[in-house]
Order: sequence, then structure tokens, then C-alpha cells
Amino acid sequence: MNSKDKFVTSRVIPAPSRIECTSGGMFKLADGCPITVISPLAETTLSAILQDTCNAYWKVKPSFSFQSGGDGVVEDGYWLKVTAENCEIVASDLNGIRNAFKTMRQLAESERGVLKSTCWLLPHVAVEDEPALAFRGIHLCWFPETTIWEIEKNIRMAAYYKFNYAVIESWGMIRLDSHPEYCWDEFAVDKAEVSRLVKLAASLGLTLIPQLNLFGHATSSRCGAGKHMLLNQHPEYAPLFEPDGWTWCIANPCARKYLSELATELHDLFDRPAYFHIGCDEAYNAGSCSLCRENYPEKLKSHLLYFHSLFAERGARVMMWHDMLLNRDDPRWNGYIVCGHSENGLGELYKELPKDVVICDWQYGYQEKDGKEPDWPTSHFFQQEGFDVLVCPWLERRGVNSLGRLAKQAKFFGMLETTWHWYRASHRMETLFVFSANAAWHPDWVPENDVVYREYLNRHLREIDLDMGSKKYIQFGSVQYQINPTPYQD
Ligand SMILES: [Zn+2]
Repeated sequence: MNSKDKFVTSRVIPAPSRIECTSGGMFKLADGCPITVISPLAETTLSAILQDTCNAYWKVKPSFSFQSGGDGVVEDGYWLKVTAENCEIVASDLNGIRNAFKTMRQLAESERGVLKSTCWLLPHVAVEDEPALAFRGIHLCWFPETTIWEIEKNIRMAAYYKFNYAVIESWGMIRLDSHPEYCWDEFAVDKAEVSRLVKLAASLGLTLIPQLNLFGHATSSRCGAGKHMLLNQHPEYAPLFEPDGWTWCIANPCARKYLSELATELHDLFDRPAYFHIGCDEAYNAGSCSLCRENYPEKLKSHLLYFHSLFAERGARVMMWHDMLLNRDDPRWNGYIVCGHSENGLGELYKELPKDVVICDWQYGYQEKDGKEPDWPTSHFFQQEGFDVLVCPWLERRGVNSLGRLAKQAKFFGMLETTWHWYRASHRMETLFVFSANAAWHPDWVPENDVVYREYLNRHLREIDLDMGSKKYIQFGSVQYQINPTPYQD
């Protein structure tokens, strides 16, 4: 490979599994340019979608030719060949075709040597690309401090970086019919807005998965903020929670009914996806009320199995965080995140859970062992117990990379990158979006030493701004304001 080729190949995020510059020439993306699409999908299915895509990306109307084929390409994968005469895409499904166009958009340069661009240029390349992990997820939080356009921008970025799932955790931001009091009244959006985002994401190749915390984190607020989304506004609902308010009172049948109504309405609102995230992390002071205190593990088992069945009847699998299922005092997990205590007796509960519960193992550190990569024992444990495991890193870049490689090698279910309240600012988004997308799609990727990927991220944010029709200063880029850009607490 020519040493300058990296200036072309490193533009694409996540990095393709195989990409080669075939010559130094350029293909002109302009009205009437020839694009051949080879797939099992009919022209009637593809034509309007791809014309819309090309109009949005480059404001051009290519001359498409559609041929049957593409069976040898894996799901979401694609082959792309750009020569002087033609641009050819081969894929076996619509998301594969979409992914080829996302790659083309990132590869393209505007017209060179002129004042104002009238067309785009694609370098001559041969790409054979496919994801390492079938489940490539990102977890996005929607706070009162998150505007609708911000959550939309993150959804669009996730889709652009070839994630195929985004878990949406609403922190009191969706007003539901069953319990309109269950939201921050002054910030919450109506269902039509959420439905728009669900359908937008689907059109970009991304399935949105709703999350509702059915155990701990019942305040819908960060514990460091001291706010309680329901009890601050409606203190009469206190019986639904343990005395401190942080964890649901799972022995109260009214809490089960309340949560069932929220959960089913939320699942419907998200067009009944195949997964539903029930949270279940950090359930501090669980079982502390007079109703819960005795025989708590049985009560929690009944609670979890009830919701498992509720979603199974709807054709969906539940996903849950792993940490309450393992005990902190067990030396096997030294240095890794687990939140259970042996005295609350939940350490055997995993044996009672159906194996189709997807375990989301959030590990935010990087526990080097004798100079080697961490061995990530909790993920291995749940896999050996027969569960599908999603590795869930956060801001620790070495952890993101290591967990991506592990998920590929050990054939875990996939990855769910968490972002929490750090989804703003390019240097953080570089880890949360760029490196995690690479970890999920192409974990063997090695960054080029002298390529500043953040600048490509910034270009991609501009493209998303264009797609969204952003007009205001605070909407552009990765932060609302350059000075004091991260108003959230740590
Ligand atoms: Zn209780």
C-alpha cells in the first residue's frame, strides 16, 4: 500500500475489514453517474430509498442499475468497488447497502481546485467489509438537559458509525398515557416525538431499544443529583419505592402493575423491538422496607421472572445489567465491577434466570494483569453459565479496544457501549463513538499514528448537522458552547 493511501482509508469510521486504494484516480459523483447495486432486493424496494440517500448525501441523481445477487455477502456487510467507469455495490440485505453508502459518504471529497463545490469525488477503492459483531449497540441517555435535537444527533451518529442497536434510557423524558405523572413535567416530550425518532432510526438501519429501570435507579435521576423524578413532584407514590426512594419496592403489587403498564406502553411506542432493557444495576438498599425484608431473593426472582414472561409473550428478550447478580466479596471479581453483597443473598439468583436473558456486563476499568490485557472474568462467567453476554465499556479507551477484541474472539453476543452524561465534546465522542464503533465492527483495527480521528468525527458531525437542517450555533459540532462546554457534573 502506498503510504499516502492511509489518507483515504482512515477516513472511514469504523475502519473497513479490507480496503485497498486501486489507483489514484477519482470517480465523479454527479447527476447521471453510473452506480450498480447487486443484491436480492427488488428495484422497486431500493430505487426511491437510494435516490433519497444520494440526494441527502451529495445532492445528485445517479443512474442506478440493479442486478440480482449478493448472496455471498454476510448480513450488514458489503463489497464496494469504485473505478473510473463505475461504482459497484454488492450486499445481501438493505443494511449492507446502506452501510456501503455510509462508507462512500465518508470516502468522498468535495470537488478540488475550485471556489465552490458542484460535485463530489470518490477515490478508486476496493472494499470488502463486514462486522465482527452481530450486535453492535450504544446506550444513550436522554436527560432533561438533553435537547431533542441532541438525542436525534446521537442516534444519527450511531447509525452513521454502523451500530445496529441503540438502547434509549429516558430519565423522565417521555410522557406516557398510562402514567402521565411519570416524567419531568416541564421537560418531557410527547409520544409522537419519540415515535418519529424510532422510525427515523429504523430508516437509518438502527433499532431503538427502550430501557425502563425495574429495580434500582428508580429515581430516574443520577444519585449524585439528589433528584427523584416521581417523588419530587408526586410524593404520594412513596409506597412504590423502598424507603430511600432509590429502588422499587418489588414486593408491592401496585409497583408491579405500575411498571407493567409503563413497560408495555414503552415497548409498543418503540414498535415492539426484539429486546427490552430492564436496567437492574446498583440497587442500593434493596429489600430494606418492612414488606420486602424477609425472603428477598425469592421476591426478586418472582419480580424478574414476571417481567421476563411479560416480554416473552410479546416476542422480546430482556436485557439487564450484570452487577447485582455477583457478590463484591467474591475474590474471583477482584478489580472488576460487581455490586451484590453476600448478605442480601442474590449471589445464586443467576441460576434461576432463563438463559435468554441478555447479560450486559458493564466494566469501566482496565485491570492489567502482569502487563497483559485484563481477563474480564465476569463476562466469561456469564457466558459459561449459558447466557448471551454484551460487553459494555465506557470511557476507558483501552477497555473499549480490549472488550471489542474479546467479544470477537470469545464469540460473545456483542457490545453495548455506554455513554451516560459524557456524550458531548469531540475528545470524549472520539472514544464513545469512533473507538467503540471500531471495537464493535473491526476490533483488530490499529489506528494510524499520525491520523487525528477527532477531525473526521467533526466532519461527520457536520454532515449530520446538514441532514438535520441545523441552523443555530449551539446545534453545530459536539458541544453547545465552546467555553464551559460540559455543564454536567462529573
Ligand atoms: Zn419493599
